[in-house]
Amino acid sequence: VGGRAWLLSIGDELLAGTVLDTNLPHVARELLPLGWRVVGASTACDDEEEIARAVREALARADLVIATGGLGPTRDDLTREGIARALGAPLEESAAARASIEGWLARQGRALGPENAPQTLAPRGAEVLPNPVGTAPALWLRSGERTLVALPGVPREMEYLLREALLPRLARERPSGASVLRRRIHLFGLTEAAAGARLAPLMARDRNPRVGITVKDAVLTVSIEAVAAGAADAGALLAGTEAEVRVLFGDRVFGEDGTTLAAAAARALLGRGLSVALAESATGGLVGHLLTEVPGVSGSLRLDVVAYADEMKRDLLAVPEATLREHGAVSAETAQAMAAGARRAARADLAASTTGIAGPGGATPGKPVGLVFVAVDSAAGVPHVERHVLAGSRSEVKTRAAMIVLDRLRRAALGLPL
Ligand code: ATP
Ligand code: MG
Repeated sequence: VGGRAWLLSIGDELLAGTVLDTNLPHVARELLPLGWRVVGASTACDDEEEIARAVREALARADLVIATGGLGPTRDDLTREGIARALGAPLEESAAARASIEGWLARQGRALGPENAPQTLAPRGAEVLPNPVGTAPALWLRSGERTLVALPGVPREMEYLLREALLPRLARERPSGASVLRRRIHLFGLTEAAAGARLAPLMARDRNPRVGITVKDAVLTVSIEAVAAGAADAGALLAGTEAEVRVLFGDRVFGEDGTTLAAAAARALLGRGLSVALAESATGGLVGHLLTEVPGVSGSLRLDVVAYADEMKRDLLAVPEATLREHGAVSAETAQAMAAGARRAARADLAASTTGIAGPGGATPGKPVGLVFVAVDSAAGVPHVERHVLAGSRSEVKTRAAMIVLDRLRRAALGLPL
């Protein structure tokens, strides 16, 4: 369905492993709803011949090629030259490019100098898409029946030109009437294998909507992609499969598309008017960090104590000396006392705590690396504590433990079983 698109990322830094290519996924996501399917992608270094070769290869394999990067004014910005060579179109002075750059510089209180001269050039026949948020204007070119677009590499500028200039134009020049709609459903508390088994009937490769599953930071994401002749039909297909997925996973589903587990937890707490306190040891403030990424969470979050040393658990969270001595800092009893202490100190409705051994060292007999206790204390319910042995690196153990806390806070706030 739809037209074939190819994405070309240009820049030495992308191949040296120093900069992660974020333009590629961004452009791919935006093209899909317009009926353009990304069939491949490539990366070229800052070399004129390599860029020319990559452009020719991309144009041989797709109807639309979108390149990003290498449109700057410096000598390592060679995308204009590479395109000119690939298309056999000489570089010429462009009045439109000059006007775009002069306009931008004027707003910065600067004048066009010799250092920006390369950017006033464009391959013959190119249409210049003015860039009001940076110096490098974008280029739109035709090669036979095919279209080649070059966007600046700076993600903010690239995103702006894509949204404001390119997508509206591509929407007018659709490859077909096909409409592709996508939805992501996020859930927590199942393994990928268990979720995959439940989803198996929906995951046939030739099914429409197509269903897939991925996992990141212990959050499972079910992607649904519906294709139909028009947006209304695609929407109806999507809604049908989304409803089936939601039935399969029930209250483990915490949100869709851009929603994070922290945002879902915060929404649940705020929605029920509940205040919360945290006592963190193993997670070192990560739960608080994730929650405070959510705007408006100050309506619920009252306190986050990071108590790493035993004496601090005792002095700041009132964990009894005897509990620490008899059970150790990494124990169900200490976790419970930490949550209770935080809740009391903050006079909060709910509190959660973490204590554990994030590794790589620190294991003792009976207490392996990855051992984490999570406790929840609430004014309403009975105290709750759970023991986990989490796999992965130190940072993965911390992240997984933090996600468990966020999930339990969401469930506790909504009155769901923990
Ligand atoms: P400028 O006019 O700012 O020089 P440009 O088109 O020449 O723009 P580059 O010089 O290639 O763009 O890159 C500018 C910045 O954008 C660099 O910091 C680079 O790391 C970043 N960048 C370039 N391409 C990508 C990409 N695909 N993903 C993420 N960042 C990128
Ligand atoms: Mg560059």
